[in-house]
Amino acid sequence: MSVSVAVIGRYRYVVLDGDNGQQIIIPLEEWSRLADQVGAEPELTAEQKKGYREQFAAEKQCVHCGGLHLRACPRVRRIVWRNKEEPAEIEYWASGRWPEGGIIFPEDVYDEEPG
Ligand SMILES: [Zn+2]
Repeated sequence: MSVSVAVIGRYRYVVLDGDNGQQIIIPLEEWSRLADQVGAEPELTAEQKKGYREQFAAEKQCVHCGGLHLRACPRVRRIVWRNKEEPAEIEYWASGRWPEGGIIFPEDVYDEEPG
């Protein structure tokens, strides 16, 4: 598959050439709109935000990344345990090198006036 940009008249298009000879042409604006959706987080409802704020207030956030998530923390690269509860050594991924998708951070839920 190869990707190129074609200008037809006043409009620009993204052209995808498939290995099987198939060609897909998408207006550049549409391509940008689709690209913006990739990785976009779904909007939280007021009810969900309230629930998450309660969890932050109860200090339920992850000690490693400061967010709320269900699975193991994606910021943690490696943990060496001293015993069952106590880590001896924690290695983190560098900033920007770990996926933040699916994690709720305080700034995601404290954007409204308290009330
Ligand atoms: Zn975490």
